[in-house]
Amino acid sequence: MNTSKSWKARNPEKVAEQKKRYAKRYPDRIREACKRWKDGNRDKVRVEKALRRAVARGRVKKGIECEMCRKSEVVGHHPDYDQRFVVVWLCRGCHAKVHKDGGERGMGPDPGQR
Ligand SMILES: [Zn+2]
Ligand SMILES: [Zn+2]
Repeated sequence: MNTSKSWKARNPEKVAEQKKRYAKRYPDRIREACKRWKDGNRDKVRVEKALRRAVARGRVKKGIECEMCRKSEVVGHHPDYDQRFVVVWLCRGCHAKVHKDGGERGMGPDPGQR
């Protein structure tokens, strides 16, 4: 049984609210977690950076809507980090879902957002 999980599923706004409050109260912890994630995912960070550069230079076209639900405001998701310019454009919600389904925690900084 996992009641906390279902509560989160039923109250996405409250979860977002909690996260926001947590980030406000403990900015250092968030920064620490980000740093830890980056240290453990150097390859991914490099790939994300390369992608952002490519988008800025017009080598890769940024998607305008989520490929799963058609929402706007998308981030680039790499199905395979070895192919840095093979990107699926997803909204934050679908992106989080994809990472959950893929077994990845997805707790790092949002790819394409910084
Ligand atoms: Zn979506
Ligand atoms: Zn992703």
